[in-house]
Amino acid sequence: MSERWRSVAAAAGLAAADGSTRPTIFAEMTALANETGAANLGQGFPDADGPEWIRRIAAEAILTGDNQYPPGRGIAPLREAIAQQRRRRTGLDVDPAAEVLVTAGATEALAAALLAFAGPGDEVVTLEPFYDAYAALIAMSGAAHTTVPLRHDGETFRVDRAALAAAITERTRVILINTPHNPTGAVLSADELASIAEAAQRVDAIVLTDEVYEHLVFDGARHHSIAALPGMGDRTVTISSAGKTFSLTGWKIGWAVGPAPLIEAITSVKQFLTYSGGAPFQPAIARALTDGDADIRELRDALSDRRDLLIAGLRAAGFDLVVPGGTYFVCADATPFLSEAVPDGAAFARMLPWEVGVACVPVSAFCRAGSETAPALAPWVRFTFVKDEQTLRTAIARLATLRDAAAPPSAPRA
Ligand SMILES: *Cc1c(COP(=O)(O)O)cnc(C)c1O
Repeated sequence: MSERWRSVAAAAGLAAADGSTRPTIFAEMTALANETGAANLGQGFPDADGPEWIRRIAAEAILTGDNQYPPGRGIAPLREAIAQQRRRRTGLDVDPAAEVLVTAGATEALAAALLAFAGPGDEVVTLEPFYDAYAALIAMSGAAHTTVPLRHDGETFRVDRAALAAAITERTRVILINTPHNPTGAVLSADELASIAEAAQRVDAIVLTDEVYEHLVFDGARHHSIAALPGMGDRTVTISSAGKTFSLTGWKIGWAVGPAPLIEAITSVKQFLTYSGGAPFQPAIARALTDGDADIRELRDALSDRRDLLIAGLRAAGFDLVVPGGTYFVCADATPFLSEAVPDGAAFARMLPWEVGVACVPVSAFCRAGSETAPALAPWVRFTFVKDEQTLRTAIARLATLRDAAAPPSAPRA
């Protein structure tokens, strides 16, 4: 194996000590959930498909001929629909011909952008914890990965401003942020985004912003796009996707929106990754973005209810947690259930399917091994609520038995 492969495997947590590969914690937890019959609140994909009317458009497109390579930048109606939706939501004027690129999910947009903008000798800064693909993609680019912690302030997770100021240096090529944030569910505030924008301008860095949960914010909260802040339009690429917004994660229709020269550079990399894809899905998503606002509201409201259900269940079971402002996820502190035998969130997540029949993932899976942030988050685990109500109720009933499972009355906890 090549050195580059080794660094990617190490960044992704795939490298075992003996040099072989091991599965990701997500694959391990899903296998464990299947083996034990656990309610799987680990991996975050919806268990109900998106709106039928959108799926019918794709089915019809397959039958009537949208089956060959679409244009590399994406079909014009989809680029137009993306530009119009951006305009509606942010007030920014977007040129669908030059400032929009359709990609194979947000993942390809992230990959192509990082390969276009970062390389050996550069630094890419992310928040920590971070979506697991970031570390592997940054390693593929050859750049160094540095992080700014999100800290639990007793109520929510917030960007550590001092760490932000220290992390952004002349070597920083790209600042990669994510809001609403996976795994914490934090929705970055206008203030936090302003600090990030100021730091980016100070060192002339490009900002990539992963906003795949942009529509899934709760309690009337507002999602802010950093691209709309003064001076940021020229240096920001906004990445999103239809997968989470319409519960169509398998379609892998994503996009990047930004200034023409940056989109041009990303397009030239994307050209040789996949060139293009998803021909029959593109017209369906174009319609979904134009006519799907009611479906988005319905999903958001349903998710908000399920979030409340899971939060109440976790609290009743004895967890301290942070109420997520958006996304599919809630992070909970498993400290009350830790012991010598189960010392951290990773051990807890491995124990939980066997002991009570619920699967989750440790937040440490979203941290760099050995980072400064990792110890503070070591007791935390992430549960998803993008599951049907019955699965959530089953999980909650099982979690209610956790205190007994973790500490039988005969062995009182210290
Ligand atoms: C799911 C997810 C992605 C991947 O999106 P795709 O469109 O499926 O490629 C990217 N970023 C975050 C934060 C996600 O949760």
